Amino acid sequence: MEFIKKKILRIMTTGTTTGCTPCNIIIPDTGVTYNFKICLKCESHDFGFFDTYEFSTVPITTTTTTINPIITTTTTNIPISTTTTTNPQTIYAQYVVLISMDGARFSETWETPSNIPNIISIANNGFVNTNFYTIEPSSTIPGHTAMVTGLFDPTVLNDGSVNPTYPSYLQEWLYSENILSNNIIGFTNKAKIIFSKDKLYCLGKSKSNLNDYLPYINAGVNGDGTGGYRADSLTHELFKIECLGVNPPNLSVISYAEPDTYAHNSDWNGYVDAIQQTDSYIGEIWSLIQSHPLMANNTILVITNDHGRKTPDFENHGGSTDSECHVLFVGIGPNINNGVTNIYRELIDIPITLLKLINVNKIYNSGSIMNEMLNL
Ligand SMILES: [Zn+2]
Repeated sequence: MEFIKKKILRIMTTGTTTGCTPCNIIIPDTGVTYNFKICLKCESHDFGFFDTYEFSTVPITTTTTTINPIITTTTTNIPISTTTTTNPQTIYAQYVVLISMDGARFSETWETPSNIPNIISIANNGFVNTNFYTIEPSSTIPGHTAMVTGLFDPTVLNDGSVNPTYPSYLQEWLYSENILSNNIIGFTNKAKIIFSKDKLYCLGKSKSNLNDYLPYINAGVNGDGTGGYRADSLTHELFKIECLGVNPPNLSVISYAEPDTYAHNSDWNGYVDAIQQTDSYIGEIWSLIQSHPLMANNTILVITNDHGRKTPDFENHGGSTDSECHVLFVGIGPNINNGVTNIYRELIDIPITLLKLINVNKIYNSGSIMNEMLNL
């Protein structure tokens, strides 16, 4: 039996969440009790804070439609797997690349195709979810934490001073492969994170017990989480060197900051230009992957945002409105379906889905596998 988890209402008020008293969820290792928007254990206790869900026993089918005339309209039923087990020998891709475009609003990305021609081109051959969300606080650290750890983490701060509760999917993969950090340099080169914003350095580690398995991380002007925001052009060049070279890491993450930076500066033209520039960078990354002797036809690419922006005030974000929480989601690669879905999904669903593609079960997780995206 499958459940349809469908967002029917977003109730956004200030205050604190109410816990799932019957289930009383406890996060592994920390012993700290947290409150989630929906109970991880029973998936039926809703707290009425972020979302209300509707459950059904009808098997999930996906009607793929298009809101963009560039993409061919198709209608398919994508069966949902009734089992969570995977052939232990099956690894669907050797490389996984996650790209974040910081703070680009859905209205200037998917809803303005002329801003993102390269992403549209990728989407034409890949998978798109037009109903993809972060939650309040719709901010940089919480959003990036969600997309790499699988948790809307109530403990992280947007200044980057707190490491996430859960390990990133990069850490969990390194742990599963028993790839320990080098004793001298302190990390492994098999997984790499490249960020423009220095404060995102906090994602390199977690409060879990997996910190013997650390990815390389380079964030900000000085690379070590200090010095302010680095120009996206430099971050992009560094990513090409570190992650698309002769020996690319199996897992890599890049975050471009400038759409968010220009918007905060009330520079509309700069904001739109930065989205278009980021789209150009993404097009180059995909092109380099496709011509790479190791990565071609062997790489999963996912593109998303950490958050959107307020409407009509585009300068700010952080709240719970639709335009602040609605984000882009595009995926492409081996065993990724081709089509468009409007099944409600969230940033926390990314890590467990990516790990499934490389045959790792995410232990620390509150997201769901996006089976509708996968052709396994
Ligand atoms: Zn941001």
